[in-house]
Amino acid sequence: MRLLTALLVSLLCTTLAFAQEHPMPAPSNLSWMKDSMAKLNQELIAKYGEIQRDRIGRGQHQVMEYWRPEDGDAAVYEDFVRTNFAGDQATLDTIFNRFEDQLEQLGGHMHEINRVFRQQADLDLGPILPLDQIFAGYDPSAHVLDDFFENKLAFVVLLNFPLTTLHQRLTEGPRWTRRQWAEARLAQFFSKRIPANVNLAIAQAASEADQYISQYNIWMYHLVDDKGQRLFPPKLRLLSHWNLRDEIKADYADKVNGLGKQRTIEQVMNRIVTQTIPQVVVNNPHADWNPFTNDVKPAGEKDFDTPAPADMKISSTPEPATRYQMLLKTFLTSKQADPYSPTAPTLIDRRFDEDREIPEQRMQEMLVQVLSSPLVPKVAQLIQARLGRPLEPFDIWYDGFLPRGAYPQAELDAIVAKRYPTPEAYQKDIPNILIKLGFSPEKAQYLGNNIVVDPARGSGHAMGAEMRSEKAHLRTRVEKTGMNYKGFNIAVHEMGHNVEQTFSLKEVDYTLLKGVPNTAFTEALAMLLQAHDLEVLGLSSPDAKSEAFRTLNDFWGTYEIGGVALVDMAVWHWMYDHPNATPDELRDATVQIAKDTWNHYYAPVFGKRDVVLLAIYSHMIDSFLYLPDYPIGHLIGFQIEEQMKKTGKVGEEFERMSKEGHVTPDMWMINATGKPVGAEALLEATQRSLAKVQEQ
Ligand SMILES: [Zn+2]
Repeated sequence: MRLLTALLVSLLCTTLAFAQEHPMPAPSNLSWMKDSMAKLNQELIAKYGEIQRDRIGRGQHQVMEYWRPEDGDAAVYEDFVRTNFAGDQATLDTIFNRFEDQLEQLGGHMHEINRVFRQQADLDLGPILPLDQIFAGYDPSAHVLDDFFENKLAFVVLLNFPLTTLHQRLTEGPRWTRRQWAEARLAQFFSKRIPANVNLAIAQAASEADQYISQYNIWMYHLVDDKGQRLFPPKLRLLSHWNLRDEIKADYADKVNGLGKQRTIEQVMNRIVTQTIPQVVVNNPHADWNPFTNDVKPAGEKDFDTPAPADMKISSTPEPATRYQMLLKTFLTSKQADPYSPTAPTLIDRRFDEDREIPEQRMQEMLVQVLSSPLVPKVAQLIQARLGRPLEPFDIWYDGFLPRGAYPQAELDAIVAKRYPTPEAYQKDIPNILIKLGFSPEKAQYLGNNIVVDPARGSGHAMGAEMRSEKAHLRTRVEKTGMNYKGFNIAVHEMGHNVEQTFSLKEVDYTLLKGVPNTAFTEALAMLLQAHDLEVLGLSSPDAKSEAFRTLNDFWGTYEIGGVALVDMAVWHWMYDHPNATPDELRDATVQIAKDTWNHYYAPVFGKRDVVLLAIYSHMIDSFLYLPDYPIGHLIGFQIEEQMKKTGKVGEEFERMSKEGHVTPDMWMINATGKPVGAEALLEATQRSLAKVQEQ
């Protein structure tokens, strides 16, 4: 999912207040409001009966919370309430149904426009003109919420349907009917009235940070050691942190220079986090850099065609905390929305209480449960034995558990290219692929009919529909020589998203409940299918032992990303505690938080203190506290997978789970597996797997 869209959607969809519990100060200039409310209370109770008393009171209170002077005077307000309050069930049903239908159409068509406007940017259709970029950046739904308050449709909803808190959804939600859930989600659409300029400032900060991150490349050939040696090949340009981290993973296979490369990258990462990296080596191949001594020289070798920047000065002058300046801006703009969100008055609250619907406290406990599990030192010991050396900090990215080489890359590429020479070939084969993955022939055909395959410009992504008359889109990369294995592997993952998107939109009982509780759920379902891609190609499925190794790999990955998430969370708390901090102060605080987290959960295992690697993730800078989604995704993934194993019915279970729709994570998981979200499934599977791999 594209982050900015996700962000805007979450701004639109999240809830804010349960009015009675958390009254906002009424606008002082609406002196008439109290009298009007009292008058209408009496009038409407007389008209509709005592039985409507609570609804009348609640509805008026909710409207009052958002009513501004420009919405109208006492007469306008009173007329509005009289006209739009549903005093009986039949009228309420009509209003509910109308909103459900219209909002589906609105969201669906807005999304359709968005998809079409992004087409040139997203798909492999020739050059992108500057105007295409403007189309791609245009969001037709940007003003919908403002419009709906202005034309008072938002007030119709607030007058008739209840706003809810996370606490209510967690404690009372399990007893609600599906219709009550749909009503809760309907009201949530209109639970915020953030001024357009505040949303714009947030979007601008996001886009600026995104821009900064997307150009943060390191030219690897220009990393030199003390003897002037270059460990990396020419032209290799790695984007921080994704490519740098993946290079560390790949280097385990390099028996000659792997370790040297890994240590070098670790040092590069340290320099990025601490911002001691020389400014001139960021995204610039014209300088050679020794990341250990921090010496910088004009490039001694050339592996590029671009001319040097005109103002380039070869020196070790560090990047001036730009990384933290970007982060600070995302914080300061997010904070501007706080006053319009009284019951989730910080971005931290909005992320946990609204987007994830898992309280932060509980998230923290689950992460700590994994990080301090007695299984950590056991798995670490196993890694150490397999490496034949003591662990080093970058081994948090150890991926040597993954079985590889059973099939050489070239062989896999050839099989895939032959089978899928074009996107159309993949499109045609979708039903067949899904049958192999465990879906019934009927469902596989139905899904195939509802997924459109497009040629992706990038590596691929899934774009679901937002209304039932639309189809989900699978964007996949196909080279001129046909699809390669990497592209196929990604396509199966993205297709997993499409399957979830199709079931959770078209088969859910209320479109207001379409989707999944949060992104971790769709990721877990997508990864479930992706893990079986070799079987689709007719190659052998993993045996019990390689399954066990894969579990250990996931456990180690959760241990790594769990610490990263804790750092992200602590940094946001620090920013809220120090709203006037400078970028330099934020840098120092982040470095300290990363060290503290390391020292607590990693130093005992790695035997080295004060490591800052946990702060290297780019998401920390441009993604507004997104990182906790990853570890929670692992936990959820294991719960779902264990359930699939137990029943052995992948297709049926996938559909049954997806149809539950957008309820709380715990409710979804109880429906899916019988238990709320938790770390037990992962820890139990890890325990079993450790025993399995140690069998002789
Ligand atoms: Zn995904």
